[in-house]
Amino acid sequence: MPYTKHDFETILKQAGLPLPVADIQIAPGVCNDVAKNIERLGISGDILLVADMHTFNAAGRGLMDRLRDQELRHLVFPEGLKPDVQYVTQIQEEAQNCRLILAVGSGTINDLCKRASYQLDIPYIIYGTAPSMNGYASANASIIEHNLKHTLPAHLPTAIYMDTEVLTNAPMRLIHSGLGDSLCRTTAQTDWLLSHLLFNTPYSAVPFQLLMETESRVFSRAETLAQRDTRAIEDLSALLILSGLGMFFAGGSQPASQGEHLIAHAIEAFFPALPETYHGEQIGVTTLFMSRLQHHLLDAGPWALPPYQADTRLFERLLPAETAKHCQMEFQEKAYDSQESAAVTQYLQENWVDFRHQLQKTMLPTSTLENVLKAACAPATPEALGWKAEDFHHACRHAMLLRNRFTFLDIARLTENWG
Ligand SMILES: [Zn+2]
Repeated sequence: MPYTKHDFETILKQAGLPLPVADIQIAPGVCNDVAKNIERLGISGDILLVADMHTFNAAGRGLMDRLRDQELRHLVFPEGLKPDVQYVTQIQEEAQNCRLILAVGSGTINDLCKRASYQLDIPYIIYGTAPSMNGYASANASIIEHNLKHTLPAHLPTAIYMDTEVLTNAPMRLIHSGLGDSLCRTTAQTDWLLSHLLFNTPYSAVPFQLLMETESRVFSRAETLAQRDTRAIEDLSALLILSGLGMFFAGGSQPASQGEHLIAHAIEAFFPALPETYHGEQIGVTTLFMSRLQHHLLDAGPWALPPYQADTRLFERLLPAETAKHCQMEFQEKAYDSQESAAVTQYLQENWVDFRHQLQKTMLPTSTLENVLKAACAPATPEALGWKAEDFHHACRHAMLLRNRFTFLDIARLTENWG
């Protein structure tokens, strides 16, 4: 079904939250109203439209036609655009004296325009061309600098518009990618809650409350995504926007990025030459692994958790020197000594049934998740992404080196139990 600003306001209101963007619309023909919408938002002055070749053809040209009467410049990137800092600079140069950046695209274009407009301190509006990822409504931008991806501060778009007629024609791999990036709600929530229960790190159930109804609609009709069903694609788009809003209110990516995302980062860090795949396609596959691991380890408890310290030689053996140093420093934030080891192990012994129950409430059977991917004809195995089984296992076993988030990957490492 089409979504308006009002639908998002209603969902957020149930959690006691205000809608932090001025407008959201997911509906057929949204592109036609671009001039009216910009005026309603009270924005006037020169506009820079930013797209790549594909998104310009899909929606950018049509938007330009409808903005004929405005002072409008445009910047269309060639194929193969990456979210590299040099393009942020290029957008900023092109947008000199503009009052608005109109971003037309999905992941990369959104990240570049979000960061460029933030640095110029002008608003940006995103015309999302594919339901491919959950960054439309998040306030951070993922930007490559010196060959490394960084999460940099940025701001929310003033408005998010997604035209169903454009979305239903998006490449199927991008639709699969959006589904994969949504699938990890359960594994991310379980990992985030695990860390909270064991180490009292911050946790909030609110981001997940926002997703529940839409998630079950998307998962229960996943096969209709493969048929490019209008309603299914609108629901998936809404789910991705809600996931972004959840991250915004959590003040970080924790509700949507835990062990399953670490494995995907590890694959990219350890095996940079593997065939290119979309972020969400990877997350679909890594989510199935995480889900299996979580279920297996909860069946194998209560665990005795030994002290956790960084193994310097392991970091140095597996990562380039600079990265190793950075990751080891971050790892220290989740390391703990023998005193804490005894306390956590005792807690698990005494509270195992309740501990496990709390985690199980956030989980779905792995077979359910697998069936969602398969119903949509999305890749569901490492091999389907061109990843060798041994490379995938290497990444899974060492992904915990890369970040400070304590997940079931750390439990598997500590208990030497990988299922
Ligand atoms: Zn993601």
